[in-house]
Amino acid sequence: MAARSRLIDLASIPTVAQLYRTKKLLPAESIDSAFPASQHLNDSIALILNDITKLDIDCIVNAANNSLLGGGGVDGAIHRAAGPQLVEECSELDGCDTGDAKITKAYELPCKNVIHTVGPIYWDRSQRQRQDSSQPETLLRSCYRTSMELAMQHGLKTIAFPAISTGVYGYPIDLAARAVTQEVRQFLETHAGVPNALHKVIFCNFEPRDMNVYAQMFTQFLPPTPEDLRIADQSAGPGVTNGI
Ligand code: ADP
Repeated sequence: MAARSRLIDLASIPTVAQLYRTKKLLPAESIDSAFPASQHLNDSIALILNDITKLDIDCIVNAANNSLLGGGGVDGAIHRAAGPQLVEECSELDGCDTGDAKITKAYELPCKNVIHTVGPIYWDRSQRQRQDSSQPETLLRSCYRTSMELAMQHGLKTIAFPAISTGVYGYPIDLAARAVTQEVRQFLETHAGVPNALHKVIFCNFEPRDMNVYAQMFTQFLPPTPEDLRIADQSAGPGVTNGI
């Protein structure tokens, strides 16, 4: 817990390339050729287990609700850490549609801005049934894409996402991680080299078990480059089985 209470700077957040090179992430036995290895992607995407409010980067994403007036989970943690001015600014934004995103200042948080997005409700707890949303994956992908677009529009270079919709909104973590890893990959490929391109997209998990799910998705959708493998070969130790 002590480790989670200090601020985390960008240099302390391992990229996919660094995870392969230190053998914290081991390559899949068979690599899907539909997702070729890319150094640019492996250097641009990062993964950490931490409280997102401690990240000292350009912006963090909040898994908000449609009112934007605060809630539980990561939303509550962000509002508590930012202080009361955040809800004051949010109250002037007229809410947010599911799949869309809005930006505010970050007040007492170490980052510069907060991007508030609203994920789809996958499982309605009160009615104990699958939510009647026809396209949860489309909406979830839209949360990530719209947040990254907004960050670029504001000249922000580093962005961290919590696992949106996978808490109270009930989206299964494996389905969510599969969709959003692909969405981020696609976004960074499409925007490579453009002015204002993002430098780092960080997946920030809070639950240790979610790390293993992301690790599995990375081996599938972000395979190691020959250079990642060469450096991993030189590093000591047998490596661990994706026990990030
Ligand atoms: P949603 O309503 O979108 O499901 P939740 O806040 O309930 O949002 O959960 C989304 C994810 O955020 C979950 O994986 C939860 O473990 C994670 N989470 C909760 N608190 C934090 C935090 N302080 N930092 C990062 N992630 C967090």
